[in-house]
Amino acid sequence: MFTHKTTREIKIGNTKIGAGSPILVQSMTKTLTTDVKATIKQIKELENAGCEIIRVSVPDIESAKMIGKIKKEMTVPLVADIHFDHKLALESINQGIDKIRINPGNIGSKEKVKEIVEKAKQAKIPIRIGLNSGSCENLVETCFNFVEMFEDWNFFDIVISLKASDVLTTITAYHRVAEKLNYPLHLGITEAGPLLTGTIKSTIGIGVLLYEGLGDTIRVSLTTSPVEEVKVAYLILQSLNLRNYGIDLITCPTCGRCKINIQKIVSEFEKKVEPLRKKFLNRATPVKVAIMGCEVNGPGEAKHADIGIAGGRNIGLLFKKGKPLKKVKPENWTEELIQLLLDFS
Ligand code: SF4
Repeated sequence: MFTHKTTREIKIGNTKIGAGSPILVQSMTKTLTTDVKATIKQIKELENAGCEIIRVSVPDIESAKMIGKIKKEMTVPLVADIHFDHKLALESINQGIDKIRINPGNIGSKEKVKEIVEKAKQAKIPIRIGLNSGSCENLVETCFNFVEMFEDWNFFDIVISLKASDVLTTITAYHRVAEKLNYPLHLGITEAGPLLTGTIKSTIGIGVLLYEGLGDTIRVSLTTSPVEEVKVAYLILQSLNLRNYGIDLITCPTCGRCKINIQKIVSEFEKKVEPLRKKFLNRATPVKVAIMGCEVNGPGEAKHADIGIAGGRNIGLLFKKGKPLKKVKPENWTEELIQLLLDFS
């Protein structure tokens, strides 16, 4: 894995990205921002899932006027997603937004973009230049032009994103921008798709860039609950040892040797363990939990797991750090594993 590129430090509300800070996970609400109750409910769900920056869409002035109310109810920074109308950005800043995301190309005129930039400068908040359409050349050239324009106005609290829906275009565009600029990069694949397709595209696109040492914050875009976006984002980061998402679940795919319904046990375990993740987030590394269908791959091959269970004929061998502890009936696997897991919290 490449050394992580050190970018300029950018403060976003009570947190920061760049300059060697942890790579932060962000997501976006899917509610009407004017429906404050529903938006706050979703924000709470995202915060509970560990989301570290949350964006809301601001399609009209009524939405912009709700920013203050929404912000009061949340703990992580709030970002306003603005298109077409610079007044929406100005009102969002009046309402205390922590960051603005714009595509300067659709704001209407250079003067209107400058108004946003000047107001953000006064409020000491960053702006993400978020570009997500066109060819790679187009994305990169447009990005350089906007960055130069912002710098000419003495504005440097810039975050950049160049999300195409095509994975290879996205990767190349980020490479080219990272060669020349030192601003933090917000990584993502736009309109990635439903859960499976979107997870694969995002994992490859974001994963390759992270592996190469690029990226300061990530957003996985999926056509499903934003909480799933957060989970996938953490699992990408955890797979590259860049963040700890509490638990690393190692499960075998099962085969003809398996005498136990491992699929059922794994999905039951996953459901029960999800609310417990938080307990393990402060560890340097996640707790590795192995659930194996037979003794062929566990505990022998799963010896690197902290705890685990390996199936036999209607029985399982519970083990810790590769050492057998006791035999457990399949119906008790989940509870026994959870008990053992809690020792690591
Ligand atoms: Fe098959 Fe056993 Fe391997 Fe699972 S651990 S895939 S049951 S051989």
